[in-house]
Amino acid sequence: MSTTLQPDPSVIGGVPEAPLAFLPDPVSLFQARARRFSFLAESSNLSPYLKLLAQISSLQARLSVTLPPVAPVTVERRKEAAAAAMPPINRMALVADPQLQATLSAFCDEASQFEMPAEAREALLAVQEADDDARRWLLSNVLSDTIPQDSAAPHLFASAAVQIHMARLAATLDAGALVPIRTGVCPSCGGLPVSSSVMGTQGIENVRYASCSCCATQWNEVRVKCLSCGSTKGLSYRSVETHEATVKAETCAECNSWVKIFYQVKNASLDPVADDVGSVGLDMLMKESGKRRHGLNPFLVGY
Ligand SMILES: [Zn+2]
Ligand SMILES: [Zn+2]
Repeated sequence: MSTTLQPDPSVIGGVPEAPLAFLPDPVSLFQARARRFSFLAESSNLSPYLKLLAQISSLQARLSVTLPPVAPVTVERRKEAAAAAMPPINRMALVADPQLQATLSAFCDEASQFEMPAEAREALLAVQEADDDARRWLLSNVLSDTIPQDSAAPHLFASAAVQIHMARLAATLDAGALVPIRTGVCPSCGGLPVSSSVMGTQGIENVRYASCSCCATQWNEVRVKCLSCGSTKGLSYRSVETHEATVKAETCAECNSWVKIFYQVKNASLDPVADDVGSVGLDMLMKESGKRRHGLNPFLVGY
């Protein structure tokens, strides 16, 4: 913790304002996610899959420490981006980035030691053996939030590697210098939300933050607002449990889409990614409604 003599910009007129964004701390983020996946695996019929995701998250935490440091986004780029209300991380420029390529290779090599179903192993091998063009195809799909439904498994591994690189890159930014882009868009990288959370942390209690599916930045969003089209009208909430639900689908009648909203204020251990997979029952319920899932989770694309 550093002390400063500057007035706190988050306190305006004595009323504390929720910060626009929180940047990820990659190691603690992925470690907590691994623990959460392990916990959820204890009482789920998706147990083998959740255990694999726990191992993947642990590996993400480990590689966040052991890989060489990422080259931070330059100050000029950050300034230009802020002036143009653009995210400072240009994801499409990363498709051929050598550091991201190295992260993908390191991730796949280590992940090949995990126990996994034959289909997943085959997909992992395909990523390891992919030529430059195929790797660029995978990475550009992940970095543009367009993972093809029929190719979920190889994209899962590519996404996990991208998440490591992006969380480390986002961690080099200055949260205070980020500017809002528009509703439902990550101010660090322009990514889509995986889900959103009503926070329980002191100081931001009951404030809602969306979590980036790509770089894990969390950014402030109004409590009742569609993260797809920005409408504040025609929203309703559905859940599997009728009492004390800690996850609901925020459903928009304007654009016919929905995003999960987690109530960390009721359970502090909820993780925006792990609990999204853990609450796949809600996805099943929503599938019957015919509405489109807007939250992007590369670990759920095959479901
Ligand atoms: Zn992001
Ligand atoms: Zn909408």
